[in-house]
Amino acid sequence: MSNWKHKHILDLSSFSLEDYKTVLELTNRFKLLPKSGSRKLPALQGRLITTLFFEPSTRTRSSFELAAKRLSADIQSFSPSTSALSKGETPLDTALTYVAMGADILIVRHASAGVPEQIANFFDKTQKQVSILNGGDGLHSHPSQALLDLYTLTHFFNSKKPSPENLAGKRIAIVGDILHSRVTRSNLWALTACGANVVLCGPNTLLPEDFINFSRKPPSGQTKDPIKHRGEITISRSLKEALIDVDAVFTLRLQKERMSENLLTNLERYHREFGINHENLKYCPRKVPVLHPGPVNRGIEISSEVLDDPSICLVEDQVSNSIPVRMALLYLLAASKNN
Ligand code: ASP
Repeated sequence: MSNWKHKHILDLSSFSLEDYKTVLELTNRFKLLPKSGSRKLPALQGRLITTLFFEPSTRTRSSFELAAKRLSADIQSFSPSTSALSKGETPLDTALTYVAMGADILIVRHASAGVPEQIANFFDKTQKQVSILNGGDGLHSHPSQALLDLYTLTHFFNSKKPSPENLAGKRIAIVGDILHSRVTRSNLWALTACGANVVLCGPNTLLPEDFINFSRKPPSGQTKDPIKHRGEITISRSLKEALIDVDAVFTLRLQKERMSENLLTNLERYHREFGINHENLKYCPRKVPVLHPGPVNRGIEISSEVLDDPSICLVEDQVSNSIPVRMALLYLLAASKNN
């Protein structure tokens, strides 16, 4: 943990293998805490954590709040509908208000890419000791979701020791609305860093060809990729082809609120061609785990039967793992403040 260098968590492109290991190990420790007796650890007593969500959220926000409570932090939540946003206040001024009240960590979600980073840059320039954790920004990034996906998958492959090596050489399919998915972008950094080969699968309108270059250029703002050997990214337009040899499948919601136009007209056809159902899963070489970041649209990107099949569906694990993963992230950011 002493090697942890991140004051903010905005994106995973700057994460080293050591960083992934640290998060997975700490998550595992929090996950293994006894379920009986007091569930609270005193680790963040006296710290103030604020959720600044300018966009709706069910899972991310409530699991961060629960994670903060489990670490005994004080937690404050901002709600756009009842705030001064409607009076024209900017996200930065809103953030400044909460920092003036003493926030140590701001978890920021916004519909526009880059807002958490702009807020972080401002506080760095003014030498404020607050950490920014990106809770999802536009199409850009959703690092805590990718880290909980990573924990869930590495734990699935080796529950005794969830670690990045568990994914080396594995083939992971991500299927659906890739274009509008910040979760996929963060997962691409995390999965390829651990040596997994990712096959992206979707129709042309939701999966542009240039995704193949996603992790080939050095991450923006960095001269060098911290990962020496990343897994490969390939693209497939056919679900049958994508699922051959696969070890795990991620499926994604059609993120209509992030689409500038309606890119799909026939949802039944979409489900037939790209939906994850027991019929299409027969293309897989064996029973493989299915993940989904939520919220789910049953019968479109995933069938109810798959979603409710505990022998393959890891969605419940993703949600329950989100608490120890987010405890780990809050803990690491709070500790970085002491350095
Ligand atoms: N909950 C995820 C996100 O915030 C995925 C989604 O919205 O479909 O990006």
